[in-house]
Amino acid sequence: MYSKLKWNYKVDKLANKVALVTGASKGIGAAIAKQFAAEGAKVVVNYASSKEGADRVVQAITENGGRAISVKGDVSNPEDIVRIFEETKNAFGGLDILVNNAGIYQYEPIEQVSAETFHEQFNINVLGSILAIQGSLKLFGEAGGSIINISSEAGKTPLPTGSVYSATKAALDAITISLSKEFSGKNIRINSILPGVVETEGSRSAGFIGSEAERKLVASTPLGRTGQPDDIAKVAVFLASEDAAWITGEKISVSGGIYGL
Ligand code: NAP
Repeated sequence: MYSKLKWNYKVDKLANKVALVTGASKGIGAAIAKQFAAEGAKVVVNYASSKEGADRVVQAITENGGRAISVKGDVSNPEDIVRIFEETKNAFGGLDILVNNAGIYQYEPIEQVSAETFHEQFNINVLGSILAIQGSLKLFGEAGGSIINISSEAGKTPLPTGSVYSATKAALDAITISLSKEFSGKNIRINSILPGVVETEGSRSAGFIGSEAERKLVASTPLGRTGQPDDIAKVAVFLASEDAAWITGEKISVSGGIYGL
């Protein structure tokens, strides 16, 4: 006999899990932190400088009965990384899920690319992810873990003036595939999510939202709109959960079906 009314209860997909989301003070990272908490995870909300934004995310989580802390730290700084993981361990005892979301994007013609803008984007988007993955390996327990790299459609189909940014995301996807094999036998899954254009504080301040370029992209998007942070966050929940227990080394586009972005 099946247990009575079992189907009536919502099962928290991330119950008893601890998750660290880098760059979670706003945008896609904030949405992921909130969706993770809504599914039962204890969440570390990392940020670089926007303490107020991070505290708002923590407050939204705790007001809904969840648990979260905010931790300041630049993911490209090895000392900050050590502290972020120490604070994670002190607060929640370990780690099960890492989301490498912190990232910056700068579109500029090749003539304007400088060593500074190159290193800034590679340091945060690529080195920062590597350092965070190294930190997570020390905290994942016997049961393994799940790592989600927030990459971009731009890494797969680069746009003009996005050579360096696209290169950082293509590099991140290569890291996803390489490490999925390197982690063989450890039950550590690692996957990339490739968002299309998503309306965030970052894409708004870059001038993209409301621009002619956005209108053109939406016009060639089968699902006919710009993405919202929750579109990405729901897929992150899936990849972090047991529902994705047999998925690793994948690059999953979440972009309304746009091809040739
Ligand atoms: P956003 O609104 O600009 O937010 C960026 C977040 O990253 C903020 O929380 C910021 O913290 C944090 N951050 C920046 N540098 C950091 C550092 N060195 N260390 C730690 N945190 C840092 O960005 P978004 O649009 O949500 O994008 C999030 C991710 O999605 C990025 O990796 C981006 O490349 C990717 N993505 C975005 C889109 C899009 O259309 N929005 C499309 C494809 C991929 P502070 O607020 O404290 O500075």
